[in-house]
Amino acid sequence: STPVTTSCGITQAAREGLIIKGGNFLEVLGKLKIIAVDKTGTLTEGHFAVSQMLPVDSTTDIRQLLYWIASVESKSSHPMAPALVAYAQLHGVEISQEVTDFEILSGEGVSALVDRHLIQIGNERLASRLGWHEDIDAVTLEKCNVEGSTVGWAGVDGKCLGVYSMADQHRPEAYEAMESLKKLGIKVVMLTGDNHSSALAVSNKVGSIEFHAQLLPEDKVRTLQELKLTGITSMIGDGINDAPALAAADVGIAMGVAGSAVAMETAHVALMTNDLRKLAAAVILGRKCRSKIQ
Ligand code: ADP
Ligand code: MG
Repeated sequence: STPVTTSCGITQAAREGLIIKGGNFLEVLGKLKIIAVDKTGTLTEGHFAVSQMLPVDSTTDIRQLLYWIASVESKSSHPMAPALVAYAQLHGVEISQEVTDFEILSGEGVSALVDRHLIQIGNERLASRLGWHEDIDAVTLEKCNVEGSTVGWAGVDGKCLGVYSMADQHRPEAYEAMESLKKLGIKVVMLTGDNHSSALAVSNKVGSIEFHAQLLPEDKVRTLQELKLTGITSMIGDGINDAPALAAADVGIAMGVAGSAVAMETAHVALMTNDLRKLAAAVILGRKCRSKIQ
């Protein structure tokens, strides 16, 4: 490829809001066969709202539950964290000044010491591992299982304290963006750490795309490597958990505005506007560059 053509493509891409770290990635985009898309924060806005917050039983104080949760979540950069903090604030609950040992539990949630108590917050996977399903009655859990939403669990010192439910909105342009990619002959696959029910709900909203749910970051990488065997594959994501898959893709794309710094650093391309329709624009630009070169 000639340097002139390559840099011309990069300038044009920048005008479209795509920062490309090297002309070869534009060429790769031109040859794209498959795109793997993260759900939370990529196909969706990543702006969650809490719809249910239920203590495990009547002896558990809801304000205490909110205090533990918000204190830990104040340290988290996951898109679910601000919703949980805001929910606690709405109920006038303060955050502890003594939060230490904050940890990300890969594919499960988060934990920290709050006032020297171990607080663990996360999904089904975490609850199963800690045996929390036995602590909660079916009626409470059923109340939390709102269609298309994600159920979260919180506990103190290894014991379940409560469950909550939250939901997110798909990006308004996501359907159009996925349709455009399909029209270009590109296969779209959604990869998510979230549960099957919320993955299905988002898939239906964005044009019934194939999906794989409840993936750990390493599962995302493995799925990506399988997809790569069938053709040139891109991955687009926003989270810290997407970084390994972004690195493993033929071309990794990070959500620019909403994305985490780690995703931005790892990716080969950054979508500065968060507008998913720019994906098809990038492929078209890549194809144009290739035809110019050949
Ligand atoms: P995803 O991109 O689906 O959010 P992650 O690997 O980041 O994937 O997280 C997996 C799951 O762990 C999330 O879907 C969520 O249920 C739970 N989780 C992660 N971080 C948090 C957090 N800060 N608070 C509550 N739950 C969390
Ligand atoms: Mg994400």
